[in-house]
Amino acid sequence: MSYGTGVGIRTAVVTGASSLKGIGYHTALRFAQEGWAVALLDIDEQGAQHAAEQIRQAVSGAQVEAFGVDVSQQESVKSTVDRIVNSDLPQVGALANIAGIPSPVDFLDLTLDHWNRILSVNLTGSFLLAQALTPYMIEGGYGRIVHTSSVTAQHGGGVFSKTAYAAAKAGVLGLTRGMARELAQYGITVNAVAPGVVNTEIRGDSDDETENALAQAVPLKRQAEAWEIAALICWLSSEDSAYITGSTHSINGGSYIC
Ligand code: NAD
Repeated sequence: MSYGTGVGIRTAVVTGASSLKGIGYHTALRFAQEGWAVALLDIDEQGAQHAAEQIRQAVSGAQVEAFGVDVSQQESVKSTVDRIVNSDLPQVGALANIAGIPSPVDFLDLTLDHWNRILSVNLTGSFLLAQALTPYMIEGGYGRIVHTSSVTAQHGGGVFSKTAYAAAKAGVLGLTRGMARELAQYGITVNAVAPGVVNTEIRGDSDDETENALAQAVPLKRQAEAWEIAALICWLSSEDSAYITGSTHSINGGSYIC
């Protein structure tokens, strides 16, 4: 089955997609496999170019273009969106806001600069991309927006994801709900995914013992793989999910059940 093609081939914009082990890269790859054109965005422009090339090699005929962007900066977002809509890529139909950074800093040690940085990348960045791209989805008559929250928003965090990150990722849920209400009139759906611990490089040089302990704390006794989160994001971007909006989709191996 090929998603995204029933309404004509559309472009999926995916942020935070340069790391070949990351959720963003796997989401971009999956979109390409499902017949979407892809705009692959990351602050690491060289990494984004490399990731785009990997997808072109993996998916025959895939239309994938890489763009450098700092999602926390409005001018950077605006100029990148301009470049996307003036490129050869087809009409934008989906946005997967995946760029994010962790915060291992204890609450009592938080500086305002660090707090602002964590909120600006994890929360403001999602707002900026979504606001800049929504008019093109309205114009094109098809729109799916998926924001990336975290189980941290629900249970308050752990070793790598403390208060500032929990606040930003909880803000993503409010952003999702507000946008879902306001954009429903255009047939645009807005949802959030809230992953638990995922086997990516976001935790930097975390050692095997720590990674194993994180896995053992999950009822399903393993970390998620990035492709599992990607599959959910791409389904939420498909025509099949048309009646789902404003929802938080927990994908955490049972680490938060309510
Ligand atoms: P990752 O580090 O592989 O991906 C994050 C990407 O965002 C990187 O490619 C990075 O270069 C990019 N990025 C960072 N700051 C940016 C900016 N200002 N502008 C543009 N791009 C920027 O990590 P991942 O684990 O794939 O994380 C993806 C998303 O999933 C993040 O939002 C993260 O908070 C969330 N998440 C991850 C986990 C996990 O355990 N890995 C769990 C829950 C939620």
